[in-house]
Amino acid sequence: PIYLDHHATTPLDPRVQDAMLPFFNALFGNAGSAEHRYGWRAQEAVEDARARVAALVGARSAEIVFTSGATEANNIALMGSGDHAKRHLITTGIEHASVAACAAERERRGGPITILPVDRDGRIDPAQVATAIRPDTGLISIALANHEIGAIQPLDDIGNLARRHGILFHVDATQAAGHIPVSLPALQADFLSLSAHKLHGPTGVGALVVTRQARRHLRPILFGGDQERGFRPGTLPVPLIVGFGAAAEIAREAMPEESLHLAALRGRLLDRLAVLPGLRVHGGMRFRLPGNLNVGWPGLVARDLIDLLRDHVALSSGSACGSATLHPSPVLRAIGLTAEEALGGLRFGLGRFTTEAEVERAATAILRAAPLLRR
Ligand code: PMP
Repeated sequence: PIYLDHHATTPLDPRVQDAMLPFFNALFGNAGSAEHRYGWRAQEAVEDARARVAALVGARSAEIVFTSGATEANNIALMGSGDHAKRHLITTGIEHASVAACAAERERRGGPITILPVDRDGRIDPAQVATAIRPDTGLISIALANHEIGAIQPLDDIGNLARRHGILFHVDATQAAGHIPVSLPALQADFLSLSAHKLHGPTGVGALVVTRQARRHLRPILFGGDQERGFRPGTLPVPLIVGFGAAAEIAREAMPEESLHLAALRGRLLDRLAVLPGLRVHGGMRFRLPGNLNVGWPGLVARDLIDLLRDHVALSSGSACGSATLHPSPVLRAIGLTAEEALGGLRFGLGRFTTEAEVERAATAILRAAPLLRR
């Protein structure tokens, strides 16, 4: 099937695979072994990758803490920060589960939270962040780009605002990094979450960027070793980290051209789908990840279409499935869709290797199937 689900994960870039392979074999050393060449070579590769990941987001190498992915990075940022005096958390209603569930857990442990609404485009109002700040606010956590509707948040003023109030600022940049410019200095964030498998790197590795100023406000959530300044103990997965570094460097170089290519393909997909009357676009088009589209037709249940087209197109519905029941996406509900409308959300994620011909074929298949399923 044609793969149009790049927000879930992206295929490994062959150049990334090439960079990784020697570290599964000849260069198998432990980056923590300081007494022999095997260790030195692994450590050198890790530090090289660290610099490449840092460069993607305008950070310093020393600020990168490698993790198993963005879920873990988000957990460290949300569960490891904030003392007892300043524990109020400000976040949004459209965060990824790994932030939303941490927020819920903080609340369960007695920390108040404020969940900011978003508008129909899926964007927060920065003025509402300012209004939500209380004397006990310790952390603001907002994703730069949304994983379902691709909405890019206006975060420019929030880092500055947080700093003035002595509040830590965490940005989940998992869907943004490698696809749109991400600058830690511009964001003035304290923590930034990243994941390699969203930018054609390997699954199972990510990073939490921890700025030098924020370091003393963070406590580890895992214990057992002094790797990664103690913030993430455990033997480093050298091949994965090397892959992350290679993927970050490729993404940084490819981004200007790739984002234009993706936006053009996305425009073409939208034009083709709009041929079938009643098409609704979920979220705004102006501030949106270039490879993202989320649409629906009245009376069409996304899961029905996805099931029908399973041999032809791989895409995603905005809904999370329990064993038997479908749950409408909280993101689509938050931008004002009814539960029924939210169950109709079709999420498209185009990627580096998506071709025009694939978009054409996918659109044709969808246009053929959708009318058969509308109720
Ligand atoms: N945050 C966002 C915005 C995401 O889209 C994802 C992945 N779907 C994650 C965090 C979790 O990333 P990982 O798969 O690396 O744990």
